[in-house]
Amino acid sequence: MSTTITQQIDLEKLKQAIDEVVYTQIDSTILYYVQSCVNCKACEAGCPFSADGLEYSPVNKAEITRQLVRARFTVWGMTIGRVIGGAKKYLKLDEAQTLADYVWHCTDCGSCMFVCPMAIDSGALIELMKQISFKAGIIPKVYKELEDLEVSEKYWDIKEIQDIWNGLINKIGETIGKSVQLDKKNSEILLYSSLYEALVYPDVIIKTAKILDMLGKDWTFMSKPLGIRPPIGIVIGDSEGSVEVMKRIYEYFKEINPKYVIMTSGGYDYPTLRYRMHEILKVKPNYEVAHITEALAKWYEEGEFEIEQLDEVITWHDPCQLSKRGGVIEPPRVLLKALSKKFKELPNHGVNTLCCSGGGGSCSLPSTIENLAKMIGYTLDESDKKFLEDRVKSLKNAGKKKIEEINKIKPQKVLTGCPVCKESIGFSIDYYKADSKVYHIVEILADRIKVKGK
Ligand code: SF4
Ligand code: SF4
Repeated sequence: MSTTITQQIDLEKLKQAIDEVVYTQIDSTILYYVQSCVNCKACEAGCPFSADGLEYSPVNKAEITRQLVRARFTVWGMTIGRVIGGAKKYLKLDEAQTLADYVWHCTDCGSCMFVCPMAIDSGALIELMKQISFKAGIIPKVYKELEDLEVSEKYWDIKEIQDIWNGLINKIGETIGKSVQLDKKNSEILLYSSLYEALVYPDVIIKTAKILDMLGKDWTFMSKPLGIRPPIGIVIGDSEGSVEVMKRIYEYFKEINPKYVIMTSGGYDYPTLRYRMHEILKVKPNYEVAHITEALAKWYEEGEFEIEQLDEVITWHDPCQLSKRGGVIEPPRVLLKALSKKFKELPNHGVNTLCCSGGGGSCSLPSTIENLAKMIGYTLDESDKKFLEDRVKSLKNAGKKKIEEINKIKPQKVLTGCPVCKESIGFSIDYYKADSKVYHIVEILADRIKVKGK
């Protein structure tokens, strides 16, 4: 087995981390996931990492959490399990290395949960392992560096980052022909973007602003990003850091007091900002968080605009976090069917969508991480490089399945609604030399939306 993380492991620190995480995070849902697996292995096929080796099948990866939890909370684990080696209280060095490797072979895409006859979310069990790994200091250094900057807000002290954001505001202004209203309180819509989106697809943010302007919406934009890809802590297992960032985001949303927070990302930040943030902070928001496809489908159905059709075969890649974890499946289809009579579904779609292998940002494209690192002046060390190389291997393996599906229906355009999916699928299209091109849906719609009288 390859080992993704090559850092030294402090077993005493790991032991404390196991105790802290297992004792504080366990609840009836996790106990159900621990106890109900019938070992049928149905989850194997849907996991984007099974192609890297069957040791990465969901049931196998989650087994470490099962054994740690059983050893503490079940009579079987505390007695017979330990005697026969079926439940572990702590981990030996090789097992700790395995845990550190497994956590970065899960994008929390949710595929395993949808195929499991017992509806077990192995991703949730692996997330606990990620929290253990983080607390024990076993984490790709580049991610830790990025998260530290995000939590401390020091990313905003970096001139290059300010230039990117201010450049985006200027370009939006040039596109709509007027200055952009920033941080305007009580606007109907807050157009939300992370720094990451501003970096990887500024055109999508600009075109979204163009659509809002065309539709005459009362909207505002942020004078500075609320984080790099907030909260990074969610995907690296730092629950405390993620709460700090979520508090900041929630306070800003509350202060602006929009009716809708509209985001173009259908990555992990969508279910996080829509549901999880409010659950964790125990607050009831006065606003609704919506993906741009939800907002556009609603306005289209209410007759606010028409869509000029394309005469092309198009398809839709459902981002895992938007569809499986976020429940947004129909709204993009309202738009896609209006956009082309030749809209075709991928063989696996909706809740059965195959992960692009990025999991909406849980494991981002290596080139993006390299760019972010460069921007903040961080030099990747050998362990970071090894980690990113391993990611490329997984991207290629998972991407092959995605490209095989795309090639079955041969669309000219693959549309999606997440920056990470766009990047990952774009990478696979280039790598496997497929004929299709991938776009964020807004990139296409912005030029085909026709508002009456305009
Ligand atoms: S599909 Fe569910 S029950 Fe079957 S092995 Fe996987 S986790 Fe266990
Ligand atoms: S959540 Fe996705 S990546 Fe993680 S184990 Fe399940 S199928 Fe695999």
